[in-house]
Amino acid sequence: MSESRELLLVRYGEIGLKGKNRSHFVSALVKNLQKALERVDCDAEVSHRFGRVYVEWTRGDREAIYGVVASTFGVVSFSPAVRVPLDQEAMCRAAEEAFRSAREGRTVKTFKVEARRSEKAFPLTSMEINRAVGGYVLRRHRDISVDVHDPDVTLNIEVRSEGILIYSRVIPGPGGLPVGTSSKAMLLLSGGIDSPVAGWYALKRGIALEAVHFHSFPFTSERSLQKVRDLCQVLAGYAGPIPLHVVHFTEVQRAIQQQVPSSFRITVMRRFMFRIATALAEARGALALVTGESVGQVASQTLESMRAIGEVTSLPVLRPLVGFDKHEIVTDARRIGSYELSILPYEDCCTIFVPENPQTRPKLERVRKVEEPLDVDALVEEAVGRTELEIIEPPRTFASVL
Ligand code: ATP
Ligand code: MG
Repeated sequence: MSESRELLLVRYGEIGLKGKNRSHFVSALVKNLQKALERVDCDAEVSHRFGRVYVEWTRGDREAIYGVVASTFGVVSFSPAVRVPLDQEAMCRAAEEAFRSAREGRTVKTFKVEARRSEKAFPLTSMEINRAVGGYVLRRHRDISVDVHDPDVTLNIEVRSEGILIYSRVIPGPGGLPVGTSSKAMLLLSGGIDSPVAGWYALKRGIALEAVHFHSFPFTSERSLQKVRDLCQVLAGYAGPIPLHVVHFTEVQRAIQQQVPSSFRITVMRRFMFRIATALAEARGALALVTGESVGQVASQTLESMRAIGEVTSLPVLRPLVGFDKHEIVTDARRIGSYELSILPYEDCCTIFVPENPQTRPKLERVRKVEEPLDVDALVEEAVGRTELEIIEPPRTFASVL
């Protein structure tokens, strides 16, 4: 726990460019940060002043607070900073302290000062600040020199009307847009590697998510459902609480198994998933479906198959991973924090009814035909009616970014 006041300077990139929407995006970012910080035991406050977003606190776990900021969409990067009054002596002293902590625990031989002065009433120009602060630091650290091209430490000094900000570290955030600024979509969340990553990319573009999972109790276990909750929780770490719709899919699968030729079962099953997801999306005000499909990754992920499945929904289907190779998705899953959960070996509702020789390029007319014996509307309605809604809260632990 820290005693003194701490400050983070938060940079937002793309959202700064949005013209008249800008203030809407910035206030969403401020609100999302404030909300996410409620998960940490701290008194952090987020503010937007003079075109900058700040997080300030006197009480709280620094690492957890950094973790929250580093996983909030819309944050391009952030810097732990100190703010001092518009005073040369205070500026030099604070800069030297910042340099001292920046070199702690590492080998630092060179540095530079990079000053920016937007407050023109301050008596020194940017160049003069560089010289004054550089000299001050050099006099107190005899073993270092200035390197303006490739310094080990850069001391940034921003002279602004509200005070002088000093920082040396720039920690990357996830970028993207604040969650909630791009309406809402329904994520089809399996227990696999792909769909959590797809959900993460949807969140990154500011899309709020609800998730739907198809579960085939007793053929799939409670453990496999818990795994999906845990995956949903990883996403909630980036988004705040996520409603998870758990669909009891066994009856639909039984009907398919009894009435549909085996090679078409996967396609028909996916059509039911999309129909049920669409009904839930419409009931919840979600404007699109999101899946973890990519093209050609497995035999069933062909354009023919996507067309046959996609025709049952009037909603746009977002497939953020469409052009990704599997190893790229795995790398992302590790970074996001979903990979270790995804590879737990629990059964999925798709795998238990998998036929030996599925149609990889199903013909639309044939699919419609084989589906005819089924009472589609009744099956969908029944499954939707039995769907259970849970709210998945974000985790209270944070990956270290220090
Ligand atoms: P994933 O790793 O996301 O499971 P996958 O490579 O295994 O994907 P498929 O099994 O073909 O691919 O599933 C394609 C997509 O269909 C998934 O990414 C997911 O969006 C959705 N999906 C599959 N099974 C389920 C399920 N049981 N519940 C919800 N959505 C599912
Ligand atoms: Mg899967």
